[in-house]
Amino acid sequence: TAPLTHDSAIIIVGGTGTIGSSTALHLCRRGYKNISLLDVYGYPSDSATYGPSQSAGASDINKHIGPSNSGTRGEISMMTMDMWRNDPVFRNYYHEVGELSAASQPEHIADLRRSYEAKLNHPTKSKEVKWLGNREEIIAHCPHLAHGLVDGWQGIWTEKAGWGAANDAVDSVGKELRKYGVKMVFGQAGTFDRPMIDEATTRCIGVITKDGEKHYADRVVMATGAWSPSLIDLAGQCVSKCWIVAHLELSEEEARRYKSIPVVYNEEVGFCFEPRFIRHHEPGKNRWIIKLCDEFPGYTRLMETTPFGAEEPVEVSVPRSHSAHPTDTVPEEGRRRLRRVVEVMLPEFKEREFVKSYMCWCTDTADAEWLFCQHPSHPGLYLATGDSGHSFVTLPSAGSQVVDLLEGKASAERMRRWAWRPGQGDPEGTGRGGVAPKDLSELDGWAHGDDERAE
Ligand code: FAD
Repeated sequence: TAPLTHDSAIIIVGGTGTIGSSTALHLCRRGYKNISLLDVYGYPSDSATYGPSQSAGASDINKHIGPSNSGTRGEISMMTMDMWRNDPVFRNYYHEVGELSAASQPEHIADLRRSYEAKLNHPTKSKEVKWLGNREEIIAHCPHLAHGLVDGWQGIWTEKAGWGAANDAVDSVGKELRKYGVKMVFGQAGTFDRPMIDEATTRCIGVITKDGEKHYADRVVMATGAWSPSLIDLAGQCVSKCWIVAHLELSEEEARRYKSIPVVYNEEVGFCFEPRFIRHHEPGKNRWIIKLCDEFPGYTRLMETTPFGAEEPVEVSVPRSHSAHPTDTVPEEGRRRLRRVVEVMLPEFKEREFVKSYMCWCTDTADAEWLFCQHPSHPGLYLATGDSGHSFVTLPSAGSQVVDLLEGKASAERMRRWAWRPGQGDPEGTGRGGVAPKDLSELDGWAHGDDERAE
């Protein structure tokens, strides 16, 4: 490919997601001037025209933010947290309320203990964590759990962690990108259909969108999250799965009582956040919302499909998003798991119906490390995916790694970790160390009609 210069035309597909918008931001900050974003959906504040992108994993009222000690995310954790605290694009959207990561089963407690010890031995993280070994210590840090079902819980308390206002932070990146003059194309005209390949050289020279338009580029970055394996054949390296999100509405008085509670995560149950005041564009519809998620191996949605690069149809888990299918609900067993999160962590609300529930998609690699690499057969086509369910926290920093890759500055060790690695993939989807995920086709209660919007 032609050498990368500050004038090279760079297209980011999935440009309003976590990794795509972060990549665009770092490209702008390093002086690149010819950047185009393509996405099905616009940034949240484009919603008057396109509706918020509930497709993106990034599209959410809050996400957990905290230091990590695994793989590349761990190595860049100091940069990540520093940007959440200090970078003008991000600092207004990070809420450092602390985090409890707990469990009650002996094998899970042992895993947490190992993670705690690794943090203790880390020169910069040792002061940030504390082991909470019994109910009393847990309630001292999370008083709202006094009525929760927390007998037998032990875990790690992290003072310097909390949550990020996900939609608002992504929107803030979008506003910054507009100041830099980044071109943005959304809707059908921004929806990737296939890459353009120069037959003589096999080089990727751009993309064709669903409306048939050709977009020429020197570099194409596919940051399409859970959709990646259904768009480009990834040889089984990523398996897309969904988890379930639910919203509980609180009165103002209730919200006041739960204000600033820490993020509580229990891998056997799920996790929840403090209430957030959500402004609605219609008068009188503002609400206080607590967000909850379940924790389990995730669900796939396996289908025969022919992504670019596959010679014949392959079985791939293909996301079905709430924004494209707004009448979809969630599987009955998922709803039961979420009720359990309420019963365990917020028993005061155990009779209260959810005001919203939907499925949110990520794509897992076997080793939970990113797939950031050039396509092995098509120079100029880059993959920036494999989020493995832990990448929102890296909104400020993931793009710096993608840009290092584009510039050839990533270390040999990181290139090895992020490399195209078929055979080390996760075709059974068990990369999280548990049982293989169930497929949505086995479950009742989630799909409602064929009301597909553009996706
Ligand atoms: P996304 O953010 O999903 O972006 C992909 C983009 O590609 C989207 O904008 C989409 O519209 C676009 N796209 C798709 N198809 C096309 C196409 N054909 N053409 C153009 N554009 C396309 N992480 C954390 O760090 N903390 C958390 O607390 C946390 N909680 C989570 C809870 C749940 C329930 C789930 C499901 C995930 C959670 N995650 C969390 C994970 C996190 O959301 C993801 O790791 C991250 O958002 C993935 O980023 P991404 O850029 O790869 O994909």
